[in-house]
This record gives sequence, structure tokens and C-alpha cells, in this order.
Amino acid sequence: MKTTHLEFNEISGNVARCTKCNFVTSQIRKPDIGDKIPKRILEYNDKFWKCHKCDQIYWEGTHMRNLQEFIQKIKSCS
Ligand SMILES: [Zn+2]
Repeated sequence: MKTTHLEFNEISGNVARCTKCNFVTSQIRKPDIGDKIPKRILEYNDKFWKCHKCDQIYWEGTHMRNLQEFIQKIKSCS
């Protein structure tokens, strides 16, 4: 089982690239993931992306969540 957190350079995973093969990723629904990733990760995350080439699964993780909170803070200041 290979799972990796994606370090997002962009705020949306829909424009992110696979860190393994650089192919485009697109969002997939939880039921489509099945048992490819640990249940714990399925429970704690809502958004998942999959690489169309190597089938790598990505999820938001804390990195992207922190990024979004940071952007919200900037917005609320202006
Ligand atoms: Zn890939």
C-alpha cells in the first residue's frame, strides 16, 4: 500500500499534479476509494484526489487545512 501526502502548491487539488509522475489529479468520491487507503484517513478527511496515471491517492491533510486557515485570516483582516 502506497500513500503519500501531497504538498499543494495551489489551493485546489484539481489543479495539482501527482508528485510521483507529474500527471494531472482529479477529485474522487469516498466510495470510489474503497480500501486503497487506511480507514482512519478516510474518516478524518472529506476530499480526495487520484492520479489518472499511477493511481496514487491524495488527500487534503493538515498542510492544505493550515493553508486555508491562513488565507481566511488574511481575508478577515482586509
Ligand atoms: Zn501519478
